[in-house]
Amino acid sequence: MAVKINHKLCNGCGQREKSLCVRVCPGNLLYKNEDNKAEIREKRDCWDCAACVKECLQQAIELYLPAEIGGRGSTLQAEQKKDKIIWQLKKVDGFCEEFEIKTEE
Ligand code: SF4
Ligand code: SF4
Repeated sequence: MAVKINHKLCNGCGQREKSLCVRVCPGNLLYKNEDNKAEIREKRDCWDCAACVKECLQQAIELYLPAEIGGRGSTLQAEQKKDKIIWQLKKVDGFCEEFEIKTEE
């Protein structure tokens, strides 16, 4: 599987020297294009760790889930809050489920 990057939401991480998604990808697969938007170099090399999904403050990155987990075309997205991360599972039929993970006591 791989990630899907929404260029309408990606702001290139503003003034940051190195974008958050670029910084965390363990495979060095992400980079910024000439329009200051994130891109993935080689989708086949993505091992679905979701680090970039979690890190993006713009919710610009979605992870395609394997069909056996969420059904064909389902995606996972994350929204960072002060004390938690909200993971959102979306299926192609419109079904949506959220999971909250606390990050602070
Ligand atoms: S972390 Fe999000 S906003 Fe920043 S460059 Fe990556 S996709 Fe764009
Ligand atoms: S899911 Fe993991 S391996 Fe794939 S692009 Fe994102 S950070 Fe890199």
